Amino acid sequence: MTKIEMKTPLVEMDGDEMTRVIWKIIKDELIEPFVDLKTEYYDLGLKHRDETDDQVTRNSAEATKRLGVAVKCATITPNAARVKEYDLKKMWKSPNGTIRAALDGTVFRTPITVKGIEPCVRNWKKPICLARHAYGDVYMNTEMRIPGPGKVELVYTAADGTEQRSLVHEFDGAGVVQGMHNLDASIESFARSCFDYGLETHQDVWFATKDTISKVYDHRFKDIFRAVFDAEYAKRFDEAGIEYFYTLIDDAVARVMKSEGGFIWACKNYDGDVMSDMVSNAFGSLAMMTSVLVSPHGYYEYEAAHGTVQRHYYKYLKGEETSTNSVATIFAWTGALRKRGQLDGTPDLCAFADKLEKATLDTIEAGEMTGDLVRITTLPNARKLSTEQFIAAIRTRME
Ligand code: NAP
Ligand code: MG
Repeated sequence: MTKIEMKTPLVEMDGDEMTRVIWKIIKDELIEPFVDLKTEYYDLGLKHRDETDDQVTRNSAEATKRLGVAVKCATITPNAARVKEYDLKKMWKSPNGTIRAALDGTVFRTPITVKGIEPCVRNWKKPICLARHAYGDVYMNTEMRIPGPGKVELVYTAADGTEQRSLVHEFDGAGVVQGMHNLDASIESFARSCFDYGLETHQDVWFATKDTISKVYDHRFKDIFRAVFDAEYAKRFDEAGIEYFYTLIDDAVARVMKSEGGFIWACKNYDGDVMSDMVSNAFGSLAMMTSVLVSPHGYYEYEAAHGTVQRHYYKYLKGEETSTNSVATIFAWTGALRKRGQLDGTPDLCAFADKLEKATLDTIEAGEMTGDLVRITTLPNARKLSTEQFIAAIRTRME
């Protein structure tokens, strides 16, 4: 059999623990037998990040800017326990944070829907894609406890020294206060990423904030989305037959629950954090979710939405059988290969990605699945397969 050709390599970011184990099996069993795989390999495994003082993470992000498309394995974000476990030089920052900062993107997460894994919300027929702004707001806040009576003000000191003040509150007793910010430039790239993704996936874009209450802050988000849309996207949306739609966040929540799905829901940072957990769990599981970082400069990074599945890895190390769901990691690969095919004009590569996704979903629909899905499936004949058996079952279908 002749293998499918690739023109430009993918940036391959290897990772940690159980997902690293799965990573290799997917390459060996599902990709390399069919594709003449070209990648530029970066080992983001924690040990190697430590050895290179995390330079490897920065290099992999730079490579993504050069080559355009990356596929990333889940990685450990070290905490105190990991520093000890891996004898680390320091508590390295989250690789996802480093890569996101370098690529300046928005994260899009979409549930992978399949017969037998039904959403809790009965009227959801199509996936809801959640787009989360990943900069600022409460994640970069400054907070203070107010011990007793006194005045709190916001003070802006311009570069020329002039001041602008506004009263937050005259406290007559103890309380709390919080300051946060965002940037026009970041909101603009968030908007562009959402609109680009809408065009690319042919879906309406919904955006919602609380602008009736937050008349300056949230209103700025609303205005920027509108201005970017009108200036750069309105015509293309019209031609594509899709819509941009703004509403209040509470109205959006009500509409989402009543909807059929099949749109992109853009959320501010905090709303996106909360709503993505609701959407992913209502659709089934984090292991059935795709995740892609789309940068406004045209770079793409595909990954699984879940972590390194540490508990399963320790079982694996002891030689025990595991049943880890590889679907999200397989879809990270297919997403990256399809995007590469689109950018390079190699339709065979796109067709391969489609086939591999179909074989994966057909396997589940035939009742062959990992333990996490057996627990929630509505299929009567579901069989629990091991990590390796599940991938082998997909391979059989591919052949
Ligand atoms: P996790 O790896 O997502 O796993 C949490 C639990 O969810 C697992 O113990 C397992 O439940 C279930 N699960 C997750 N993925 C699964 C899969 N593919 N198949 C079957 N079950 C799955 O989260 P964590 O244990 O909190 O974090 C482990 C490490 O991952 C941490 O070091 C963290 O820093 C890192 N992490 C990385 C990323 C990333 O790189 N994108 C994201 C999140 C976390 P059961 O044990 O009940 O079977
Ligand atoms: Mg969260």
